[in-house]
Amino acid sequence: MPELPEVETVCQGMACVLEGRTIMEVVLRRENLRAAFPVTLKETLENQTVTHIKRRAKYILLYTTDHHIMIVHLGMSGKILLIPPAQNYDVQKHDHLILSFEDGGKMILNDARRFGMVMLANESDIETHKALKLLGPEPLGNHFSAQSLYESLRNKKTTIKAALMDQRLVAGLGNIYVCESLFYAGIHPQRRGDTVTETESEKLVQAIRDVLGKAIAVGGSTLKDYRHADGSLGYFQHQFAVYNKEGKTCPRCSNVIDQCTIQRIVQNGRSTFYCARTQE
Ligand SMILES: [Zn+2]
Repeated sequence: MPELPEVETVCQGMACVLEGRTIMEVVLRRENLRAAFPVTLKETLENQTVTHIKRRAKYILLYTTDHHIMIVHLGMSGKILLIPPAQNYDVQKHDHLILSFEDGGKMILNDARRFGMVMLANESDIETHKALKLLGPEPLGNHFSAQSLYESLRNKKTTIKAALMDQRLVAGLGNIYVCESLFYAGIHPQRRGDTVTETESEKLVQAIRDVLGKAIAVGGSTLKDYRHADGSLGYFQHQFAVYNKEGKTCPRCSNVIDQCTIQRIVQNGRSTFYCARTQE
């Protein structure tokens, strides 16, 4: 599943290639993904120029000259492919939405499992759009701080893991980056949210920014190569400290004690990976 760093990488790749280009044709190859495509998608986007691309949480926002926004969520398996103007391209089975540009280039949304979504909004009411209005602050933005996190956790009876997964508290964090951030902050995933101290909130915000920032940097470095695979953006190999590392030597304790291995527990139906020695 694409997480925030993948979506950010996709947005950066789309921004490089699509900004300033005009959409000549919109082809829908089916009526729906998780939900129906907007019925006005074709008439709204055709003959519009892409002004800019932004990310909000795990949504891709494509802005056009007449102040409409196409909102794309990649779901479980969605991919954005950018096909250069001169390249022949055979449409694939799961290519559901194809934007063709004036120079012959294409942007394709391919989604094998069809949990993705495409919506439309007006620029003037994007903040109140149903997909975005309940989202908390961006984890890399100025509205997310140790103080704001500490205050949001004051009345959280749920675990810190569940609190960080709650998109209203902070937007765009998924299972992987929550596990990694709690590890680097030294906080046990089963701690109740309201027991997290101000100092721990500071460590946690720093850890979240670090793990996301590093992953985005890795993603960015893959963008220059996007043409030599299938044109798809944003999927790349990660090095995780704890995620999916059950039974592996703990990277924090490997110099201290060789018996510390990464533990796995299940919380709200999702695996959590952590170091039982240093996460308190
Ligand atoms: Zn350890």
